[in-house]
Amino acid sequence: MKIELRRAAMTYQAPDGEVAALRDATFGVADGEFVSIVGPSGCGKSTLLALIAGIEHPSGGEVLVDGEPVRAPTGKAGLMPQRDQLFDWRTIWGNVTLGLEVRHENTPARRDSVHDLLEQYQLSGFARKLPNQLSGGMRQRCALIRTLATSPDVLLLDEPLAALDLKLRKDMQNELKKIQQAIGITFIFVTHDQEEALSMSDTVVVMDKGEIQQIGSPIDIYNEPKNAFVADFIGESNIFSGTMVGDKKVRFINKVFDCVDDFPKNEKVDVVVRPEDVFLVDEGKGQVDGVISSSIFKGVHYEMVVMVGKTEIVVQDTIERKEGTKCSVIIRPDDIHIMAKEFDANRYTGYITKKNTVCFAGGEFECDVTQLYEGSRLDEEGYLITKEGEKIDL
Ligand code: ADP
Repeated sequence: MKIELRRAAMTYQAPDGEVAALRDATFGVADGEFVSIVGPSGCGKSTLLALIAGIEHPSGGEVLVDGEPVRAPTGKAGLMPQRDQLFDWRTIWGNVTLGLEVRHENTPARRDSVHDLLEQYQLSGFARKLPNQLSGGMRQRCALIRTLATSPDVLLLDEPLAALDLKLRKDMQNELKKIQQAIGITFIFVTHDQEEALSMSDTVVVMDKGEIQQIGSPIDIYNEPKNAFVADFIGESNIFSGTMVGDKKVRFINKVFDCVDDFPKNEKVDVVVRPEDVFLVDEGKGQVDGVISSSIFKGVHYEMVVMVGKTEIVVQDTIERKEGTKCSVIIRPDDIHIMAKEFDANRYTGYITKKNTVCFAGGEFECDVTQLYEGSRLDEEGYLITKEGEKIDL
């Protein structure tokens, strides 16, 4: 099933004003793709899922399923919620056939396929048991069978593993991935866990504050984060403030480094370096000297903090250097990711007046209206003339 969002937006009316939960979401999901939507709590992930499921209607833009706008909850989508939501008074059989009953599809053929699913997910001996007689992992599998029993074309999963402990979560991650590969339907998987998103998906959609920050393959998102938010949210990152000082040369931590990204000279930039990309060598042998201020064993590697002047650099290495040791740091050009600095901005809805001023926030302000059309100019009467010569009355 193909899903397409075109500038989809969602604004909720809350008692203390409007909440813009989703802005300008544009992306497509191909048939059979495993897409994860990842971002911190409150960034709009569930809202996005609710729009695709047809539970909510976009307040702007469009959501299309197989080319048709979604107007009501679609029978083609199966939703797997965060908690398993099994009914404790119904048997496992009663729970897994619930979707079929509601849809009046409880036919012998369908019941046979539910038997098959129970067998496949090692629950056939539990059909007559009650949910509270099952372990957490079994309950989750039961919830999955209930959803799959209705033969959806797309499975929408809203943090289905969030309530499980770490070991069980890892097992279920593998299980879900295998199921998706076996049945080949589209999975849209919401999670706040970046590791889960990277390890399970074909495509990752990173969200923050109601906006999509980046869409790409897990490897692209990890290696080429588009901005400092993505770099920080997906994996650990050192983020330094830097300035471009020349052709592929950037100054940060008081030192000029070669890099591979080209930005205009004197531009202020964010410099992102992954902890595993910082190499430690003996004092005086690297690009910049520092002192180890802390070291923690993390299972496979040591996570150390190096102080270079007043700046902290987080480093991961399998060889420990003890607190207080003087050392030197090497960062290779390929591992220095330069990003345009993001500025906070106030957003207003406003309008342009006949006098080519702009009104917003209760005031009227001078502005440069030629910014509306690249290459445009104002004529003597104040009309905007576009690059192509079209005359526009604002
Ligand atoms: P996430 O799933 O990423 O945690 P949500 O989509 O649930 O985020 O919420 C996004 C924003 O929209 C939050 O600020 C949340 O408080 C708000 N929100 C969600 N649902 C409603 C609603 N029904 N009414 C008002 N605000 C809502």
